This record gives sequence, C-alpha cells and structure tokens, in this order.
Amino acid sequence: MKIAILALQGAFAEHEQMLRQLGVETILVREHLEDASGLIIPGGESTAMMRIMKDEGLFEPIRQAILEGLPVLGTCAGLIMLDKNHLDVMDIKARRNAYGRQLGSFNTEEEFKGIGKVPMTFIRAPYIEEAGPEVEILARVDGKAVAARQGNMLVTAFHPELTDDTRIHELFLSLVTNQND
Ligand code: GLN
Repeated sequence: MKIAILALQGAFAEHEQMLRQLGVETILVREHLEDASGLIIPGGESTAMMRIMKDEGLFEPIRQAILEGLPVLGTCAGLIMLDKNHLDVMDIKARRNAYGRQLGSFNTEEEFKGIGKVPMTFIRAPYIEEAGPEVEILARVDGKAVAARQGNMLVTAFHPELTDDTRIHELFLSLVTNQND
C-alpha cells in the first residue's frame, strides 16, 4: 500500500513520519497526483494551500480522484480543503479559526466513535458547522463536530499526526484497505 501526502505546505512531514512508523510507504505530492491507494491533505494554511494547489494544476485532478472514490484523510486545513467552499467534495461547511484568539491552540482528549478516548491537538483549528445527511460525525469537543466521515473521506479538525497515538491513521488505512477489497 502506498499513500500520497499533499506536500505543498504545512504539516506533511509529520504524517509521513507517522505512516513510516506504521510501515506504510508514502509519496509526497507536489506537482502531480501520484498513483497511490490513498491521499492525506495535511494541516497548514488553507488559503495558501488552495492557491498553490490551483497554481500547480492539482485542484481538478485531486477533486476528480476523490469524487471517483480515492480515500482521503484531511486534517485541520485539510478538513477545510474538502468542504463545500474549497474542493467541494464533502457535504460539510467548515468554520475557520473557530476557537478565537486565546483558545487558538489547545490539547484535549475526547471520545472518537469506534476508537475511544483520543488525544487531540488543535492549532487555530476549524470545526464543522454544517454537515449533510451522508456525513457521520465521529467526535465532538464542547458540542462542536471535530471529526467526520462521508464514504471515502475522513476529516479531523485536530492534528492526529502531532501526537504519538496512531489510531486515527490506522482507521484511515482500514478505509483504504476496505476500498481496495
Ligand atoms: N487556521 C488554518 C486555516 O484556516 C488551519 C490551521 C491548521 O491547519 N493547523 O487554514
């Protein structure tokens, strides 16, 4: 199994490291959407990521691949990228920088559906303010949806790659495996 990681800007190296730890081959995507069984869109700055993605001609190929069923994990800015105002592949609307200045960055631990208590690191994070009927909310913090799945798409408002808990990545890899069955 090989997983592509969008490496235009942001926290892609940490995802790479975590997948290596899990024994999974990775490929960094900068100019072409490489042939892979899954794609990770990391945290960073969604405005910049969006601009570079368009400049590099990656916007349409990535959008098409996801619509055709490529499993994708979007974390933080990656969640924003999948929403209706960006790649428009997932039936969600993200609220950017949703926790105010003081609460811009924080760690917590919450229940994640099917996994249990998971450590969550938020950095100027979004939450999901609207979700369509096909979207399953997987975790909430203070009542706000911070993780969700819709078919081949899994998103977290927090950064699972910044903790040493590998269970979210393992969940994503299980989606990839099931997709290819
Ligand atoms: N605040 C960033 C944005 O709006 C997301 C932050 C992150 O990915 N850590 O794109």
